[in-house]
Amino acid sequence: MKCEMIRDLLPLYIDGLTSEESNVEIEKHLRTCKECRIYYQEMTGEIQSATPISDEEIQDVELLRKIKKRNRRKVAGLLAASILVVVIVLSFVFSQTYSRVKFEDVQIDYGVRGDKAYLSIESEPGYELWFSGSVSENESILKILSARKIGGSGKDIMRWEDELGTEDNPCRWTIEFQDKTIVIENGELVEEK
Ligand SMILES: [Zn+2]
Repeated sequence: MKCEMIRDLLPLYIDGLTSEESNVEIEKHLRTCKECRIYYQEMTGEIQSATPISDEEIQDVELLRKIKKRNRRKVAGLLAASILVVVIVLSFVFSQTYSRVKFEDVQIDYGVRGDKAYLSIESEPGYELWFSGSVSENESILKILSARKIGGSGKDIMRWEDELGTEDNPCRWTIEFQDKTIVIENGELVEEK
């Protein structure tokens, strides 16, 4: 049956006025013909004045989705690239401002004052010293990590002072530089390696 005939019959079909034979034909057609099905659904109120979506429109939607997806991927790529650039720049800046500290980069002063041993480490003008370390009762280990250029003419001076220990259990400072490690016991240099 042609679409036009089906559509002419649809109002009767909906009211239950069509013959069994016609009903079979109409239902068969509705199963296979999308446009008539939509027309029928509009008439019965299953779809409220919906306009049929053409294949072209469906393709447009698909295309739009693909473009969006592609854009999203592009954005993610750009983001990753810019993060990489930031990391590279930061590590370059870091390597320019922070430098490893060699023994000769600092002034070391140590000795005994009264019953106390002292130690001071002084940076070059315009530098700030960074260190880590561990301190126990009779032993301090200092690791001079880096010097950061902060400008100006001020020096960064680190000072330590501790009670003198006994010969068996001396006040012991181990100081690690990039190129050398020194050990000071009771204010005296006892080891250099
Ligand atoms: Zn049809």
